[in-house]
Amino acid sequence: MMPRVRLANLPTPVETLPRLSAALNGPVISIKRDDLTGGLGFSGNKTRKLEFVYAEALANSAKTLITVGSVQSNHCRQTAALAARFGLDCILVLFGRDPDEKDGNLLLDSLFGASVVWTGREQYKETLQQVFDQAWTDGKRPYLIPLGASNAVGTLGYVYAMKEFIEQGLDVDTIILASSSCGTQAGLVLGARMFGFKGEILGISIDHPAEKMRSRIAALATEASERIGQKIIFDPDEVKVNDDFIGPGYAVMTDLEKNAIELFARKEAILLDPVYTGRAAGGMIDHINRKILHQGQHILFWHTGGVPALFAQPYQDILQP
Ligand SMILES: *Cc1c(COP(=O)(O)O)cnc(C)c1O
Repeated sequence: MMPRVRLANLPTPVETLPRLSAALNGPVISIKRDDLTGGLGFSGNKTRKLEFVYAEALANSAKTLITVGSVQSNHCRQTAALAARFGLDCILVLFGRDPDEKDGNLLLDSLFGASVVWTGREQYKETLQQVFDQAWTDGKRPYLIPLGASNAVGTLGYVYAMKEFIEQGLDVDTIILASSSCGTQAGLVLGARMFGFKGEILGISIDHPAEKMRSRIAALATEASERIGQKIIFDPDEVKVNDDFIGPGYAVMTDLEKNAIELFARKEAILLDPVYTGRAAGGMIDHINRKILHQGQHILFWHTGGVPALFAQPYQDILQP
């Protein structure tokens, strides 16, 4: 068994969404509620990854967690919550400029007591190294968690999430999820192979070209399998990623996300986020409208969290009635 610190309330619920399904005249739609992983300030998919990453940080006697992300990073917010809960320091390296008003995840970061260093997206690796070196020199025993906690260790969170889902006994044809730093999908892909899920796993890319994502997911899944001690080599061709919905780019909300957020809220009282799940659900709805996903099938939308960003700018303004 891999070293793991229990943080999430598991298993997360699986629910069916009959009113959404009827509104779309589409397949049976179920949802895996990883927006309810609990445990770390408003939940999300990073909580599962951090169970394994934090165990490794502890093995390294870490006293400070350092990680990186965008202004409204859900990963950074969950890492800040983790540090607060276990009495560690947390330094977040965030892309962009310090905004006058802290909202959404950024407000939560400060509530959890994390300190923030601002950097440009292009030079973030240098900034991260500087911040790490300084913390080391200062005797803070820093531990570096990569973007999205998407290394082989973090990926294990979703290997066991797939096992958990299989044990919930729902027979679905296709799993749809938001994919970005690739650890979530890599874990599901490896878990599917290890524990025998036969359906399709379709990642909706939030920001990167599909080809790049398929290679990264295959490499991460392979690396994670080595960690578990049974090496399986994955080929990018066996990974399914759709990059048709990137639109104007990362974290830019359009009607695709807005309409999906409104539909899920009105039909099922489920909240999606503007950056990840809103885009992935928009992609799913598009697939249903075009009958690529259709009646007679059973599909699963894997909710990955992110809801605090609903209350951040510019999203809050865009969602005004
Ligand atoms: C990070 C994140 C994702 C993407 O997961 P990756 O493992 O980075 O691909 C999806 N949804 C939400 C809400 C996230 O915060």
